[in-house]
Amino acid sequence: MPSEIAPPPPGTGPLLRARGLHKSFGDNHVLRGVDLDIAPGTVHALIGPSGSGKTTVLRSLNGLESPEAGSLEIGELAIDFSRPRTRAERAALHRASAMVFQQHQLFPHLSVLGNVTIGPLRVQGRPRDEVMADALALLERVGLREKADAFPSSLSGGQQQRVGIVRALALQPSMLLFDEPTSSLDPELVGEVLAVMTELAAEGWTMAVVTHELAFAREVAHEVSFFADGVVVERGAPAQVFGEPRHERTKRFLQRIQ
Ligand code: ADP
Repeated sequence: MPSEIAPPPPGTGPLLRARGLHKSFGDNHVLRGVDLDIAPGTVHALIGPSGSGKTTVLRSLNGLESPEAGSLEIGELAIDFSRPRTRAERAALHRASAMVFQQHQLFPHLSVLGNVTIGPLRVQGRPRDEVMADALALLERVGLREKADAFPSSLSGGQQQRVGIVRALALQPSMLLFDEPTSSLDPELVGEVLAVMTELAAEGWTMAVVTHELAFAREVAHEVSFFADGVVVERGAPAQVFGEPRHERTKRFLQRIQ
């Protein structure tokens, strides 16, 4: 993997600290004071029932949603959501992390290489030679070098999602955000995507992962936040949250799906 796309060295990645996030869609008060801490080089799994606000939190971390109140620190960047973002803050927030979406959201009219390089070339304005070399090295890493010129529609769902991960890495973010990255895949394709994520975790990437894959959360995450009704009800090491859940809501959720 090219050194410039390696994760930040251990202990030097960004510390993420969100406090008191509130967000409403119309009169639907979706986030009701969410706190989230992610230590550098760790994987944080966001779990909980559908509609509890996990995706909205994740999107807020990347500036895709704007909470009405609360604060967010990522490394040096500090955002107060109760006042409008400056253009510089918006850009910095967007640069700090890169998102892998549930439906990979690749451009159908661009090749795999085109999808991976469009952000670094058009948005970041990085030198073409460097962007191409990095993109090909990243595709090689996930076993898709020979698909560089293929169009997304010719790939399997698992391959498309691996391209989605490469596209995020190519932006050279300081952390990675995954929004249910395997939930739209056929069961037999889930493993190849989780394998890439497990490798990235082992390399020391800081990752926030909204997931229904509780086995993955249990094995790979360093910390788990359990969401219900727009707040983090319980947070802890996977062994504790899964093995000895403290909160009644967590217990019920785990009983229902295990
Ligand atoms: P989760 O990821 O836990 O399933 P979400 O954050 O996706 O939860 O959604 C929380 C609530 O916010 C749901 O009631 C959902 O319908 C609502 N919601 C999310 N995004 C929007 C949006 N763009 N417009 C209106 N409502 C939304």
